[in-house]
Amino acid sequence: MVIILNEFMELTQRQNHRQILATPPQRRRQVTEEEMVAAVETLLLGLGENPHREGLKDTPKRVVKALKFLTSGYFQSLDEVLNGAVFHEDTQEMVLVRDIDLFSLCEHHILPIIGRAHVAYIPDGRVIGLSKIARLVEMYARRLQVQERLTAQIADALMGLLKPKGVAVVIEATHMCMVMRGVQKPGSWTSTSALRGIFATDGKTRQEFMNLIQHRPTFGG
Ligand SMILES: [Zn+2]
Repeated sequence: MVIILNEFMELTQRQNHRQILATPPQRRRQVTEEEMVAAVETLLLGLGENPHREGLKDTPKRVVKALKFLTSGYFQSLDEVLNGAVFHEDTQEMVLVRDIDLFSLCEHHILPIIGRAHVAYIPDGRVIGLSKIARLVEMYARRLQVQERLTAQIADALMGLLKPKGVAVVIEATHMCMVMRGVQKPGSWTSTSALRGIFATDGKTRQEFMNLIQHRPTFGG
């Protein structure tokens, strides 16, 4: 796992800022709503169901609507999500937003990834509204993902935006494709991290972050 992550981080570090800020990939072909609904109908037929029975009558439409919502991050850009909420501030203390709820879909099975993200950065003249960090996580989560890439995208976006001294992102998540099928291991979860700048180079800073995210507060559930 560690080796895979390291390779991946090298790859993403080679991406330049423009690529990270670019709007999401354009669809190759315009697909109509009707075509999408028909595809879900075909899927239901293939599963041995009758898509026209009462309970399933509107299911294809609902599935398409739900999937569009769950992947709406493709159609958002950082600019739109942040809406100018970057401020000048002379603090150099670590900012940490913990336990950001995360709902995504794995790109291999289109099944849910459910977890939490912890995001920290050490500013260098620029800070961002705290709620915007959660919005940023949400934007990347609402795409078809692998957990490693999601983790790296959040870190790289913040690095590009704020040019901070460093960024650390840890995601802990459970993958329904592992829990409900395949190895069927309920309770298994995967932890990924992306460390940039001082979090990658300075062991003490990294350790402080790790300690902070391990501490479980007694408030807030
Ligand atoms: Zn999967």
